[in-house]
Amino acid sequence: MAGFTIKGITDDTDRCEHCGTRIRRAVALMPLDADGSEDGDVVYYGTTCASRALGRKTAWVTNQARAAQAKWEQQAERAREWLAAYEPVEFAPVREKFRVFVVERNNTVRPGETVTDAVAGLLASARAILAARI
Ligand SMILES: [Zn+2]
Repeated sequence: MAGFTIKGITDDTDRCEHCGTRIRRAVALMPLDADGSEDGDVVYYGTTCASRALGRKTAWVTNQARAAQAKWEQQAERAREWLAAYEPVEFAPVREKFRVFVVERNNTVRPGETVTDAVAGLLASARAILAARI
């Protein structure tokens, strides 16, 4: 069954994308496809339209949205921290990556993984998290 998943809550927008009403805050909803996978771009609905779309009470929707927002902000903070640490050495020689990843930040490279892979993986994850910003 297609529907939405709640991504967060924001006051950056003042109009419900569903009905066009002026709103004080919007719930960020990600459409889901028939398999329940995220599908498409986030839409911003007022709490009333969001609760109708989800078939839930507005208080439940607001609570879920706040929790999702807090979780995303936590992930985004970690992502920004990774970017600050690893972007400066992204194209640097391996010994520079090793210095930051292992010596300064006390990480361990997993078996079969190079320090270059590890740094590239963290940067890719960080960028994906921030690209999904709501
Ligand atoms: Zn609406």
